[in-house]
Amino acid sequence: MSTPSRPQLLSKYDVPGPRYTSYPTVPYWAHQPTADQWLTSLAQPGVTRRGTPAGAGIYVHVPFCESLCTYCGCNTRITRNHELGHRYVDVVLQEWELYRRRLSPENQLPLAELHFGGGTPTFLEPPHLRRLAAGILAGGRVIPGAELSLEADPRVTTRAHLEALAELGFNRLSLGIQDFDPRVQDAVHREQSEELVQAVVQHARELGYQSLNFDLIYGLPFQSEDSIRNTVAAVTRLNPDRLAFYGYAHVPWIKPQQRKFTEADLPTGEAKRHLYEVGRELLEAAGFREIGMDHFAKETDSLWLAAQQDNLHRNFMGYTARPVLPLIGLGVSAIGDSWNYFAQNEKVLEPYMQRVLAGELPLVRGHTLTAEDLVLRQHILNLMTAFSTRWTEPDLQSPFLELAHLRLRELAADGLVELQDQGCTVTPLGRTFLRNICMALDARLARQAPPERLFSRAV
Ligand code: SF4
Repeated sequence: MSTPSRPQLLSKYDVPGPRYTSYPTVPYWAHQPTADQWLTSLAQPGVTRRGTPAGAGIYVHVPFCESLCTYCGCNTRITRNHELGHRYVDVVLQEWELYRRRLSPENQLPLAELHFGGGTPTFLEPPHLRRLAAGILAGGRVIPGAELSLEADPRVTTRAHLEALAELGFNRLSLGIQDFDPRVQDAVHREQSEELVQAVVQHARELGYQSLNFDLIYGLPFQSEDSIRNTVAAVTRLNPDRLAFYGYAHVPWIKPQQRKFTEADLPTGEAKRHLYEVGRELLEAAGFREIGMDHFAKETDSLWLAAQQDNLHRNFMGYTARPVLPLIGLGVSAIGDSWNYFAQNEKVLEPYMQRVLAGELPLVRGHTLTAEDLVLRQHILNLMTAFSTRWTEPDLQSPFLELAHLRLRELAADGLVELQDQGCTVTPLGRTFLRNICMALDARLARQAPPERLFSRAV
């Protein structure tokens, strides 16, 4: 039998699958920890077997946006009422105070990472953004080399926003770009020119932000090979340090705003994968190196250096340059991770605010990892960050791995992985199919009825 061509493989493995920012993935969570278990675990988090732990991380979700992008899959509240944002800052700081009271001074969190995400953190006016950051930083011990970052929408981000956070030590900025093509921007209701982005980039560089990330999306309505080429050309001129290049997830039954365009406007299947391939090749030609799944970085960026030093980590924020544990999520819908537990806050703004104001942690769901979960979580993390995993050591073994090994055989026959007796290594060709490879080790998917398929059809 001849080896399938790359286009045949792209077609064969074009099945939906998780992005594995957690294992188990959220739909399989069960056994939510009590608030007490969760808080106790923060003082004694579990330990990943990969990399050198750096310290704790805090993710703060700011849900507000002034207008709705039609592709959006985030937890947002569309409003122009900035007063609501001010009240929200008070509530998040009150939530942080609930954690601080429980963490004794000697256990004060050594903060390695603080990230403001959304929504749009720069929806908050600069004095309130600063108040939020200062209040959180006052309750932690910021370790040397900590990464303090924010996501920003270039359309509503001023120099004053960036200045307010730079003065507190923020050193990383992530901009939502998606695509520079005017027709695509019109369809997704997000119009932002290269000049507008250039101005924000320039402010950030002048204020000392050391790392700039751009988020791009492929698979948006009306995207074409030309629009991807033009977008990557503009990105190259703007010169970020790292990039995320995500596939658009079309779920209009969950996100009704995605009905603003029709399925016929969307590149799907092979056409969508082709856009990724074109973008990937152009980014690599421009000096960006592929890291894990959907991410690229310059060789000077800390993510690339972490990957070379085997120190890359992955959590709900995506890839981080070192293991960050525990991770505390503050704000509506935010998720925390202590390695042994996941915990998520209320997903609707009003109950979130009411519960915090009543003095309770606003947890609404979570998961207690089983012994099998912990082993498989480690292997999936190894694959997502280092393209390789081994289960030779007794505490990295689990009965499911025998079945996983069988599930990997077809992928090995297609040249995507090399199998060892107790382990596997992703081949250079297999990197594009990392999601499918991780799915082979996902016991939760394998046990659903019918079991999740790793590929759509044989070729
Ligand atoms: S700015 Fe981001 S979070 Fe807000 S609507 Fe657009 S995509 Fe969603």
